[in-house]
Amino acid sequence: MAGERVLLVEDNVLNMELARELLLAAGFVVLEAGSAEQGLELARSLLPDVILMDIRLPGMDGITAVRQLKAEPATASIPVVALSAQAMRSDLAAAQAAGCTGFITKPIATRSFATEVTGFLARTEHPA
Ligand code: MN
Repeated sequence: MAGERVLLVEDNVLNMELARELLLAAGFVVLEAGSAEQGLELARSLLPDVILMDIRLPGMDGITAVRQLKAEPATASIPVVALSAQAMRSDLAAAQAAGCTGFITKPIATRSFATEVTGFLARTEHPA
């Protein structure tokens, strides 16, 4: 990656730190929000290349935030990848219905995480 900007919306500090380190090491520029509300603000003002959205957040949940992003023309085309625990199968269906491009399960797989994120980015840059 050469400076693609990823917005990470995550309320868990340890998850945030791990994701940040992996993405920085892969060459991403990392933007961070600790809540859906802050994530929406940053998405609208900075228009990142990809958004990683935790589903379980205090206040507004990630699914609601994704619906808002997809409803607004300025942010509708930004790929959003949902982050949630593997056990939360209902989150996967809700994320797809809300318009998420992909789903990454937590705990984050450190060896493949940055590559997975890159894949979601490439898919939108080179549509079939
Ligand atoms: Mn969370």
